[in-house]
Amino acid sequence: MLHRLTISELTARLGRREVSAREALQACLDQVDRVDPQVKAFLSIDRTDAQAQADAADQALASGTRHAEKPLLGVPIALKDVLSHRGQPLNCASKILGKYVSPYDATVVSRLKDAGAILFGRLNMDEFAMGSSTENSAYWTSLNPWDTSRIPGGSSGGCAVAVAANEAFATIGSDTGGSIRQPAALCGCVGLKPTYGLVSRYGLVAFASSLDQIGPFTKTVGDATTLMSVLAGHDPRDSTSVPQPVPNYAAALGATSLKGLRLGIVKEFQIGGLDLEVKAATDAAARHLASLGAEIVDVSLPHSDYAAATYYIIAPAEASANLARFDGIRYGARVDGADLMELNSRTRGAGFGAEVKRRVILGTYVLSSGYYDAFYLRAQKVRTLIRQDFLKAFEKVDAILSPTTPTAAFKVGEKSADPLQMYLSDIFTISCNLAGICGLSLPCGYTASPRLPLGLQLLGKPFGEESLFRIAHAYEQSTPWHREVAPLG
Ligand code: GLN
Repeated sequence: MLHRLTISELTARLGRREVSAREALQACLDQVDRVDPQVKAFLSIDRTDAQAQADAADQALASGTRHAEKPLLGVPIALKDVLSHRGQPLNCASKILGKYVSPYDATVVSRLKDAGAILFGRLNMDEFAMGSSTENSAYWTSLNPWDTSRIPGGSSGGCAVAVAANEAFATIGSDTGGSIRQPAALCGCVGLKPTYGLVSRYGLVAFASSLDQIGPFTKTVGDATTLMSVLAGHDPRDSTSVPQPVPNYAAALGATSLKGLRLGIVKEFQIGGLDLEVKAATDAAARHLASLGAEIVDVSLPHSDYAAATYYIIAPAEASANLARFDGIRYGARVDGADLMELNSRTRGAGFGAEVKRRVILGTYVLSSGYYDAFYLRAQKVRTLIRQDFLKAFEKVDAILSPTTPTAAFKVGEKSADPLQMYLSDIFTISCNLAGICGLSLPCGYTASPRLPLGLQLLGKPFGEESLFRIAHAYEQSTPWHREVAPLG
């Protein structure tokens, strides 16, 4: 059952030399062979390269390198197909990149390598991270290890599946409007969207640059602190990365009491369409946190109603500019044409899927002259109001509590014909990205039948990750949810 260990359990055994990195990797690969034909999390795995990394980790362990120096030494981790990993394919689950291979490492990838991780596979996602179910992948839909007739969430669906199915000890994804927290909630793992600027985006294929952040999927809150101690930190290659020291996140794990902390419940999040089991689980979580000593108070985010509309102007606008580079000349696939224009439009016509095209068209429209002021500029102003709402709420509370998603995992195909319905599955996660603050999702219960995980979202101040870890860890340590294993785990 090696594959079911948490990172802290695995590193303890690796440190005592009870297991080898090679065995840890093999445990993941065996689990992939056993369950991935059913859940389809991985787009590709480079076994030869991974085994070489595991051997190098075993040598380092044998020569006395400790986990205090390299916290992920010998830990198999997989990456969303949106992060550059030198020598490995990079497709963003799209056809347009063809046989593109990354010529360099993303900053997070070099940091993971420096920390000793074994990076062994590419994970499925919605094409260019646009979606909430992985149904927009150009390859296939990943399936939820709790019930394979259901989606795992998205866009980082493969990341959540791989952790929930115990195919990897952790995975790294990206979150533009909920893409880490929503699939983490629907698959029953811990997912963190860090504060904008905390983790370098260098080497992350951009979707909406002012909203994108990279973050971890883990089995426990403690493992998330380990990952963040590796991923976070200033990077001169990303001008939006913030030059400030990274706190010692593990120190946040000490507290079992939440005395002195104030947690906010958002008045405007008490929406009509909220699933009753989701509401019951969130209410119970709030009562539980109160029993640990936290004070629960009401807060108001008056502009919440505009978050989805604002996001679906700003994100497509930025996407339309970012995706202009996939022109048939610079990267990957090409469909020839009589002239440059024809080559360009044929390549993009054949290479992009329907949702990506929809976003590029929407984004181009809201940026075009005559519409820029009415849509894009106005959305930017509303975005400022949304951020101010949060900053005001955080004068009163240390963190905000909400469900991560309005429902548990839905059926494959249930929302794919209706983009608006799909967009609403991120209703609680989107405003965090618009505000640039941090958000964490962790398991807080299950639906009765079928048994599907539910997520509790904790939203924190800019660079307030330590508070989120403290609250989440105290909650996790006193509840049983995270110990449950998916049927395909
Ligand atoms: N589901 C949202 C979208 O489709 C968010 C995706 C993300 O966070 N990458 O844009």
